[in-house]
Amino acid sequence: MMNFLKTNKQVVLGILGGGQLAKMLANSAYQLGFNVSIIEKEKSSPAGDMTKQEFVGSWENEEILNQFLESCNIVTLENEFIDPEILDKVAEKRIIFPTAKTIRLIQDKYTQKDILRRAGIKVPDFRAINSVEDALEFAEEKSFPMLIKARKYGYDGYGNATVFSQEECISAIERFKQSNPYRQLMVEEFVDFSKELAVLVARNQSGELAIYPCVETIQYQHICHSVIAPAEISKELCKKALDAATNCVKAIEGVGIFGVELFLTKDNDVLVNEIAPRPHNSGHYTIEACYTSQFENCIRAVLNLPLGSAELIPPAAAMVNLLGTREGSGSPENIEKLLCHKKVWLHLYNKKVSRVGRKMGHITAFGNSQEEAFKLAQAAANAIVW
Ligand code: ADP
Repeated sequence: MMNFLKTNKQVVLGILGGGQLAKMLANSAYQLGFNVSIIEKEKSSPAGDMTKQEFVGSWENEEILNQFLESCNIVTLENEFIDPEILDKVAEKRIIFPTAKTIRLIQDKYTQKDILRRAGIKVPDFRAINSVEDALEFAEEKSFPMLIKARKYGYDGYGNATVFSQEECISAIERFKQSNPYRQLMVEEFVDFSKELAVLVARNQSGELAIYPCVETIQYQHICHSVIAPAEISKELCKKALDAATNCVKAIEGVGIFGVELFLTKDNDVLVNEIAPRPHNSGHYTIEACYTSQFENCIRAVLNLPLGSAELIPPAAAMVNLLGTREGSGSPENIEKLLCHKKVWLHLYNKKVSRVGRKMGHITAFGNSQEEAFKLAQAAANAIVW
């Protein structure tokens, strides 16, 4: 097990990807006295702009990948949609967490859920399908509505279809097959949830865990808009969520930080939706509101260092995403208006262009209650336009 701090070697954290998650990881790395190297397709990415060690190009290009690997001594990622074969190549030269094995099983939503279900973790009922008949058979057993999900490469709901009838089911499968005839699909029962929850879990190689508070996430059109910490649920339900999330990370032998998304059902059960093997949008509030942020604990976990406390400092915190509302410049129009809001933290990701629904930044606020924190963050977020 490698501990760079004992070898007197400068730690250079290599990050596969240069988006906002990499940027916030880089901030934490610098705070810890480490250096950062970025590989990203486009020049001047949010994280690439922060370092002299910016490698621009595809990680499928072996020359660029090797230059990047030469520049760093440990690697992590900000996005699970990397071909695991690339991660195998990285692992030949550098320590990388999460591992290619973890990413392989997480990338396929069916395989992921199958492992969790076998580990005794409650998930919505699901099945792999090879034909419309398979889907209709599942619907007959479970009834509509249900979801058809692409097993791989879905994000922000792209790759999911909720269907309410046989006709909708047939046409949704046709649409999936038209866009890619080889795309593997699964079906999943529709969960009539009362809240969506998330729990972040950091785990280092020694098996030490840091478990963050259970938070509520609020999605519109499958995009996360805001996060409330802690979730306003009973102690008993909170324990169920924390236990489920911890068991998920143990079941996949995860090392790094993992965002576990859960559903709270109307009959007070907690089901796991999915695991993200990287810092998660539901954990941005931890930068100010927890003793150790999700980004810092990710780095500590990857380096097998002792983890910091995941405890919440204020009574309540809220995070509101700043989502693009137009196509155009990535610089907000009226930042002064936002900065008139005193007790909030503003994070802008420095993306060059804005698009409708694109995550351009976020706001965090504290409160004596969840409502107070949310109102503060939302009022500030309302003041800015892209
Ligand atoms: P992605 O991987 O694209 O983020 P998810 O599978 O996490 O997709 O689903 C995105 C959102 O779709 C969830 O946050 C939830 O709101 C809704 N959703 C997903 N699965 C179900 C389900 N089985 N029942 C009800 N809603 C669901």
